[in-house]
Amino acid sequence: MIKKCIYCNLSEADGIKLSKSDIIPDALCNRSLINNRVCKIKHNSEFSNSFESIVIGAFDFLRNKLGLKNKDKKIPQYKAKVRINDKLFTKKINRKENFFKGVAVSVDNIEGKTLFGPIQDFKSNKKFNSQELEEYSLNSLNMIEEVDLNISIFFKSEMLRLAAKIGYEWYCKILDLNGVSEERKEIIDFILNKNGSEGIVEIVNNKVMYNMLTPQLNLGTHSLCKYDSIDGNSYIIYSFFGLIYYKIKITKHNKICEDANLIEFYGIRYDGSETKVRLYGNSDFLFSSVDPKIAYDEMLDDIVDRYDELLSTELVSIENFKRHFDEVKKNVEKYSGDELYDSLIGFKDRKKLLAIMILNKIGENKDSLDYNKTFYENTRNLFYSNEFVQIDEEELYDQLKELFDNEKLIQNIEAGYSCLESLK
Ligand SMILES: [Zn+2]
Repeated sequence: MIKKCIYCNLSEADGIKLSKSDIIPDALCNRSLINNRVCKIKHNSEFSNSFESIVIGAFDFLRNKLGLKNKDKKIPQYKAKVRINDKLFTKKINRKENFFKGVAVSVDNIEGKTLFGPIQDFKSNKKFNSQELEEYSLNSLNMIEEVDLNISIFFKSEMLRLAAKIGYEWYCKILDLNGVSEERKEIIDFILNKNGSEGIVEIVNNKVMYNMLTPQLNLGTHSLCKYDSIDGNSYIIYSFFGLIYYKIKITKHNKICEDANLIEFYGIRYDGSETKVRLYGNSDFLFSSVDPKIAYDEMLDDIVDRYDELLSTELVSIENFKRHFDEVKKNVEKYSGDELYDSLIGFKDRKKLLAIMILNKIGENKDSLDYNKTFYENTRNLFYSNEFVQIDEEELYDQLKELFDNEKLIQNIEAGYSCLESLK
């Protein structure tokens, strides 16, 4: 069989080059899912410029928190607003502690720019007028990070086209479809933006479905499911990080549908691991949906709630924490005293606090670990939970501070880190 592009029906004999399309853009997902029947220039690069990059850019903060890297393999920067005591500053950062190095712009006062850094660097620099210096202690600093989540992005045409592209390319992949057929013209035109066909992408608004699937598929997961509706259409349900579920009309079918059927989701979690969920139900009921224009008001609060929950929950896996464990280890080797304190917990960087908490817990329990089992199996026992933990940053900070002051923390971290290497 000659491979043909699923958008334009051309093959390499026609002078185009077929390429491997990441069904879910790699900036949004830590595992690649490929459709290799998409032509390189027109229908791979062009999508990236016309809608993918806009969606990706709108989620820099979330991508940073979930560890989803840019093309250059770096963790993305995001525009942070940081309130320090009573002043509000803004700066592009990729981690909380970088806020305290260099210039940040003040948002709500006329002073403009403020230079941050360790106090001793300023004191030893003759160019600085000591009267312009303001000293803060990390310990007593009240630092609040504020994020603007622009909810409207979930309902914009760029997002709807991206959802349609993901749904369509996955559908073609699982059914091994080649080239273009007349029945799929409507969805193709929608993705290519030839016309804004109504009703191609809708938003699932059934709360029963969200309540049922969120605990199983977990927030932060991209998931996909194909189903044939009693209305004669085949749909793909695509969940964007579990925050919102899109229903994408792909083509017509002529099967006879039962009321209840097996519903199977394939998911990719943010650490790159795969997951599958199967349940029995009535798809047409569960995936009842509305036009994106109508969905906004109705779904706004729920999306914000799920987003908050996603940001306050962490997946305890090696993949998710590896670079943080390594960094903690480096800090312990490099610093001592106050510098060590600041680098480890002083900036109250959530993910780092958690990495330290995990290492501490493993170190504390080094004699009762089962070394024939994996990190995953051991941590599930240690935390008496599934692989997700929900934390309160301030509470965790206080616990770790106490351990640090009692000089137990460093020893546990070191023990914990060396256990990691011995676990299966
Ligand atoms: Zn093409």
